[in-house]
Amino acid sequence: MSSSISAIVDSEMDSLVADLQTLIRQPSVSAKKQGLVECANLVANIMQKAGISSEVLYLDDKGISPIVYGEVRSKSNPGKTLMFYNHYDVQPEEPLELWEHEPFSGKVEGNYIYGRGSADDKGELITRIKAVEYFLRKTGDVPCNVKFMVEGEEEVGSVHVEQYLWKYQDRLRCDGVIWEFGCIDMKDRPIISLGMKGLLYVELVARGPSRDAHSSLAVLIENPAWRLVSALATMRDRNSGKILLKDWYKEVRPFTREELAVISKEPFDEKEFKREYGIDRFVKNAKGADVRKALVGMPTCNIAGFNSGYTGEGVKTVLPAQAVVKIDFRLVPDMVPEKQLERLKSHLKRHGFADIEVKFIHGEAAARTPIRDPFVRKVERAAKETFGSSITSVSSAGTGPMYPFVKVLKAPCISVGSTYMFARIHSPNEFARIDLLNKTTKCIGRIIEKFAT
Ligand SMILES: [Zn+2]
Repeated sequence: MSSSISAIVDSEMDSLVADLQTLIRQPSVSAKKQGLVECANLVANIMQKAGISSEVLYLDDKGISPIVYGEVRSKSNPGKTLMFYNHYDVQPEEPLELWEHEPFSGKVEGNYIYGRGSADDKGELITRIKAVEYFLRKTGDVPCNVKFMVEGEEEVGSVHVEQYLWKYQDRLRCDGVIWEFGCIDMKDRPIISLGMKGLLYVELVARGPSRDAHSSLAVLIENPAWRLVSALATMRDRNSGKILLKDWYKEVRPFTREELAVISKEPFDEKEFKREYGIDRFVKNAKGADVRKALVGMPTCNIAGFNSGYTGEGVKTVLPAQAVVKIDFRLVPDMVPEKQLERLKSHLKRHGFADIEVKFIHGEAAARTPIRDPFVRKVERAAKETFGSSITSVSSAGTGPMYPFVKVLKAPCISVGSTYMFARIHSPNEFARIDLLNKTTKCIGRIIEKFAT
């Protein structure tokens, strides 16, 4: 079954690529606060040109990157609203010497368009704008209302997304959200992901003497690095990887039978994965369905960095004044970051480590759209009709700001998109595949049509 915009997507591919080039050529690196307002205005202009009414919106503090809001009201079907969430900011382009073309050139070679943001996320954004533009051009209408929320801080942790959602919640109200990206696997199958894990990021600091001491004094002065290592050892079972903090798993939502059935069908090549990372076993020696269940729904306690004393070349016999560890805990539905933080603090107290300082760095709850939601069926059908087949994933193993969308807008979120899994996002020579931009624009067209029904 062909979407009513399929033919126009094919005939207008050059203009899609040209608009994507224009977007790539405007650097918008949120980590350096470079070109963000310029890029927001550019996105708003491209939307206007497409027939989407757009506005650049700010929080009270005008120093914070704006969001671009876009909207088209459906004349025939104004009762349903689909929203696209995307971002116009990109990762820094460094290291420059590893790029084969200028990072902001938008150079096209055969089926590839190169540049920072070509895939993440300007390529994804353009497929959505174009799908809407082609409906308007072909029929003078859209099958349902469409809205866009395009933020400028995704690559630095979406720090203000929740504030934007609260401030503009009336305008942003919708019945479903298509998430900012989606992966296409090696067999050209889109991965439809229904959730994201949450995150609790903390720093623990153990303090010893008032300054670094000669290590001969280790007979008298307790070493804060040992103290921190001892504290860490109480937190996680060394064999099973189980987190030993009291009530840590209390709110973990069990998988439903439907979710388990989907997880068991998710493709995962254990051998290839182990080869890629040069490892010969997984935590707990997990195999088969347990590996997939872990990726989708297991909380973690990971040491992201440990720093103390002397780690340079040769010998320095020193007893360090302090030891610092950074820990990221991945969270799953329905764990609450603030609650988990309190559990961590009371764990340390209970085990005699009350002196270890806990610094909270970031907290974000997990979100998961129920697999039974009819929106999921619609996206799956659109993807199958366009790509031949698709893979549904109960949740991504990574973290994103999906929870505030669910909390504020109360709408299901689904991730589906055009990014080839080896598109080098965040790395030199990032690219988008033009054939996938073409298919994804058609797929988005089908999603809009099915969502409207
Ligand atoms: Zn990114």
